[in-house]
Amino acid sequence: MTILGLLSVFACSNKSDKGSDDADNTEKRVVNVPEFNADSAFYFVKAQVDFGPRTMNSAAHDACGDYLAAKLEQYGAKVYNQRADLSSYEGKMLKARNIIGAFNPEAKKRVALFSHWDSRPWADNDPDASNHYTPILGANDGASGVGVLLEVARQLQLQQPTIGIDIIFLDAEDVGNHRDSGMNDEKSWCLGSQYWARTPHIPGYSARYGILLDMVGGANAQFQYEYYSNRYARDVNKKVWKAADAIGYGNYFVATVGGGATDDHLFINEIARIPTIDIIPTSQKYTFFEHWHTVKDNMDVITVPTLKAVGQTLLQVIYYEK
Ligand SMILES: [Zn+2]
Repeated sequence: MTILGLLSVFACSNKSDKGSDDADNTEKRVVNVPEFNADSAFYFVKAQVDFGPRTMNSAAHDACGDYLAAKLEQYGAKVYNQRADLSSYEGKMLKARNIIGAFNPEAKKRVALFSHWDSRPWADNDPDASNHYTPILGANDGASGVGVLLEVARQLQLQQPTIGIDIIFLDAEDVGNHRDSGMNDEKSWCLGSQYWARTPHIPGYSARYGILLDMVGGANAQFQYEYYSNRYARDVNKKVWKAADAIGYGNYFVATVGGGATDDHLFINEIARIPTIDIIPTSQKYTFFEHWHTVKDNMDVITVPTLKAVGQTLLQVIYYEK
């Protein structure tokens, strides 16, 4: 994804939401929330990176797609493979595949969890310009969110929550305008989610809300309320950040409004109209994180404690939902 053009305009609010009481996980209900195994999530991140860059139309991409669909099936999901030929901004045909795992598919009350699984074909933010056309491994930008969701899937099979969960791996997210293209079209990004939002895997599909994960494995990550998430799904932001705080991850989930990201959730909100937030790091120093869209977005940037904070928070939200 890319940053919202007017980032600085929006990265100004500093008000705390700690006093609000509209999140339903403040209830005194006692729910047995499973333990998120972050070592397992780390392994799932590495398994994807081991295929190599998962760039569109590559053998590594296709092999990784087969791996993801097989894992969801192994953990008991009803799996949908949504294949589509999508056109890149350069007019290239991209063989895209959104992979959906439906857990407890009969349940009417559903929550959708999203992450993109393709990796950027160009390290166009690399400090070394000679890398600007090198594909990236996307350990954090891509594989981290998918890795967390595969561990969530494993937990869903071990203990079924009250609601239905859809884990949706979106393709063709990171194919937006190359920085040297002179173009800045937000619709050049997130092609898989744009397609899914128009043509969901089940006609008329809806969910109570959605949560998108992007770059959730970096060291010392801080997640603020992302700007569009706060515009379209403020209550979901509050619910998730409150759940994080309740289990001791308030140092990762900071309840202030941060900048905006043109990411999959934007199209899910605007086209599918499912209120969806983006859990994505903000940084004063970097765009998202130090090695964003560089050749250094490899396994060295992935840390178990951040995967744990995000994954355990997700389970807290899922198992308290009723
Ligand atoms: Zn990216």
